[in-house]
Amino acid sequence: MIKLENIHKYYGNQHVLKGINLTVAKGEVVAILGPSGSGKSTLLRCINFLEQPSGGIVEINDKRVDAETASKADIVSLRNLTGMVFQQYHLFKNFTVLQNVMVGLTSVKKIHKVEAKKRSIEILERVGLANRLNHYPAQLSGGQQQRVGIARALALNPEVLLFDEPTSSLDPELVDEVLATIKKVANEGNTMLIVTHELNFARDISDRVIFMEDGLIVEEGTAEQLFNDPKVERTKQFLSKAI
Ligand code: ATP
Ligand code: MG
Repeated sequence: MIKLENIHKYYGNQHVLKGINLTVAKGEVVAILGPSGSGKSTLLRCINFLEQPSGGIVEINDKRVDAETASKADIVSLRNLTGMVFQQYHLFKNFTVLQNVMVGLTSVKKIHKVEAKKRSIEILERVGLANRLNHYPAQLSGGQQQRVGIARALALNPEVLLFDEPTSSLDPELVDEVLATIKKVANEGNTMLIVTHELNFARDISDRVIFMEDGLIVEEGTAEQLFNDPKVERTKQFLSKAI
């Protein structure tokens, strides 16, 4: 469960998030849409404090952190409840596929190497990479690299998964394999927030869709509601241009 209360973010005097309130239930999949610069990435990064919110409260399960009083320990424990998948994969280039997935288990979770290896192999099997364990990122396609990114996020068994445009760096023919992997992860009952420009995918996978504009959530609803009958003019414009 994620609960955001009145999240604000300033960069200098630019007000990028202007009071975001959002609750995502356990097992719910929520897609975030919106024009470039509307604050989608900033919002995801404020949830795990990769960016410190300027104000507001982030709650994940029972861990409630007020941005204004957050200690380092609060931030670490909140962050440990999240897993993030980035547009640019962010894999360690000098680590093999297996090492990339194992490293969080051994270094963050302090799990013994033997157990960490076993778990990592299981997860890499789930994302279809059992035959690439000893490859380095440079030896993989973009789609395979992103599936390693997904496996790495899953390995830590987080309460919530945050995806920031996970297919935007991929060649078009590689997008589907990554979307299929994300769909599989969603069907396993994970709580997920996904920023995406893939509207058909958002429609297919999400329980709820959120439309952001200029630092605010301007409309939300089921995919059916938002795609078939948007109420807000800006959402209508965005969807009509995007489809
Ligand atoms: P896109 O669809 O292009 O990824 P976005 O909705 O994810 O856009 P953000 O990246 O959250 O948008 O950016 C929101 C605003 O905050 C933009 O005006 C951006 O320039 C600004 N911004 C983002 N990160 C920083 C930063 N580290 N320092 C200063 N300004 C930033
Ligand atoms: Mg972004």
